[in-house]
Amino acid sequence: MKLIVTEKDSAARKIAEILGDTVIVEEHGRGRQKVKSYHFILDGEDAVAIGLRGHVMETVFPNTYRRWSLKYLGDMIERPDLAWVVDGAAAGTLAALRTVAKGATAVVIATDYDREGELIGHEALEILRGDALKHNPGDKPEKKKRKAVAKDGAEARAKAAPVPDATPGDPHVKPMLPPAIVDRHIRVRYSALTPEEVRAAFAKPSTVDFNLAEAAHSRQDIDLIWGAVLTRFMSLASYRYGSDYLSVGRVQSPTLRLVVDRELERRAFVPVPYWEIKATLVRDGDPFEVAHARGRFDALEAMETALERARCETAEVTTYKAEPRKDKPPVPFNTTALMSAASGAGMTPARAMRAAESLYLDGLISYPRTDNTVYPPSLDLRGSLQELSRWQPVAATAARLAAQDKLTPSRGKKRTTDHPPIYPVGAPARELSGDQAKVYDLVARRFLATLLPAAVIERQRVDIRLGEELFLAYGARVASLGYLEVYEKYAARRDRPLPPLQPGDELKVIDLRSESKETQPPGRYGQGRLLEKMEELGLGTKATRADIIQHLYDRNYVRDNPVEPTELGVALIAAFDAAMEQAPVDISSSAMTATLERQMDRISEGELRRDEVVEESQQMLEQAWKLLDGHVADIRDRIKSGVREDLTLGGCKNCGGQLRVLRGRTGKRFAACVGKEGEEPAPPAAEGERPRRGCGQTFPLPQRGTIVPTGKVCAECGWPEIKVTGGGGRGRPWVLCIDIDCPSKEKYRARKKAG
Ligand SMILES: [Zn+2]
Ligand SMILES: [Zn+2]
Repeated sequence: MKLIVTEKDSAARKIAEILGDTVIVEEHGRGRQKVKSYHFILDGEDAVAIGLRGHVMETVFPNTYRRWSLKYLGDMIERPDLAWVVDGAAAGTLAALRTVAKGATAVVIATDYDREGELIGHEALEILRGDALKHNPGDKPEKKKRKAVAKDGAEARAKAAPVPDATPGDPHVKPMLPPAIVDRHIRVRYSALTPEEVRAAFAKPSTVDFNLAEAAHSRQDIDLIWGAVLTRFMSLASYRYGSDYLSVGRVQSPTLRLVVDRELERRAFVPVPYWEIKATLVRDGDPFEVAHARGRFDALEAMETALERARCETAEVTTYKAEPRKDKPPVPFNTTALMSAASGAGMTPARAMRAAESLYLDGLISYPRTDNTVYPPSLDLRGSLQELSRWQPVAATAARLAAQDKLTPSRGKKRTTDHPPIYPVGAPARELSGDQAKVYDLVARRFLATLLPAAVIERQRVDIRLGEELFLAYGARVASLGYLEVYEKYAARRDRPLPPLQPGDELKVIDLRSESKETQPPGRYGQGRLLEKMEELGLGTKATRADIIQHLYDRNYVRDNPVEPTELGVALIAAFDAAMEQAPVDISSSAMTATLERQMDRISEGELRRDEVVEESQQMLEQAWKLLDGHVADIRDRIKSGVREDLTLGGCKNCGGQLRVLRGRTGKRFAACVGKEGEEPAPPAAEGERPRRGCGQTFPLPQRGTIVPTGKVCAECGWPEIKVTGGGGRGRPWVLCIDIDCPSKEKYRARKKAG
């Protein structure tokens, strides 16, 4: 019997359906731990496919490091005593694996085709062979189940669950299969869950690439040590315990730095005033606008002189130029480009990634984690076109392309050999909804766009004389649609043609005016741009970037989209900077993270060993920690004042104090006046009460979403206005007056009542 192990249940089901004529489904366990196995006949032999739940092993510290205390941190860095053990949360999955593995004569690893997939395959082999540890060998056997300390990084998952079939005294799990069978394993690699790909993969078996797995494993080790040590250090230094802990991570902090640096640039920006002169002209048709050819006037007098010289009744066209320009089709999608485009269409990268993964598991698109932007020659472009010709929105274009003799796809700059770029592999049998529909539409249209010719855009420019001054206007007209036939909704270009004009034409001036403006600070990053920036700097991987950004939202370091740091986020980076001034390496810089990523590539090429890389990173961490340790008081002050600023919503109308977000005993949040900064609290009103601060004014607050002060007061009542945004920058933020009895809410209430 062949045992086929996949990374997720849906991949196991899909593979069984593709390779088997009839599939018998068996269920193991119950409730949330329920696992299914898929039994079928493969080449005349029994076969069973079973899906894991991603990683089934994890790296852990010994229990002695469970307590959060500054005094253990040095030990954690010097002697982390990490162990690679079975993940307690996977107990149900592994019990099912043991059941179905019985009697297997061959093992097929069919996990996802990337670094993490290789490691998960390695984990499965360790467990099947009985080489996996049940717990850290440094731990004394536990008398009672202790509650897991769910805090930093990989420690977050519960570890109290029992490991299947543990033999007392032996630190290893019981073998599921004879070693000889496990060692003869087969690895299959496929980029899409389509019959062609899966059959081709099974026809060309290979073995698990242990170097690649080691690279992923080293990242796990390093991330655990860095995350645990720095998170604990920062949290303990700033007295932030429990759910308020300050998360710090090897990739997360440099990403936050990008956002904070941009914000500090914006704050330091001094706007410079300037003026523009504009005129509205009309001939027969619609009026249109022209601007002074000089563009920007820095001096008021120069602007006023030009304005006077331009005064006239009639303007005259001096030149009119129209030049066709090719607008090349976009290149094939890789992960970053897809998520960036999805972000442009109003979806967060993390949600886009989830939708893309489910489309992949449904056999509709190829594997969505890829850096590649060049279709390999072996790719069946025509097959995908035939599939798409069954999908109504683009059916006509797809059918036309499929019938074409020759296909010339566009190509990007990145060429890798593991996966093709993301492309559609099937047409949905029923209508998709929500994020899935959006991502599929994007992938399908992008794919067609890469096979269509360039668009031709006619760039127009008209020069017009007003009095003694020259003005101009630009326009654009789509002369030939090209790829815009299917991709116009996602392309930036818009058709904005000028009216037909010729030199000598006269136009009536209906308005001539100056506009006073200011230079603008650099814009904040959108989530899509931030992802691209991370890729440029080598921060994270295609698999992790979206989650890292999401985590910054979840930890309250950033809010909104475009991404704006909170004062807590700014304070965290500022605290690092102050401590790291003399450091040889800045741990929140992207240079250091990129170095580690390169080392992982070298591990996968067999040039470095995991322990060498982990050891080097321990040394870097030790230097950083020593510097940080000398700045505990400074870090504490900065974090405290950052948090205070984030929670201050504005001034109190009654007493001139400050309204701040507080939490009640039940965890409900509300706004209360806390009086003026530095004001002595009033003595308690009655015995047993606490001293009172402020005037006693309170307001209820929305319990969900992030609350941000707008800095403005309500025009109706004078209390501060606040902005509420959904978690992760999702949904449209809404601005409301903090006063629930404010007259501004009457209209809203009336509407709600009526509707
Ligand atoms: Zn007050
Ligand atoms: Zn109001």
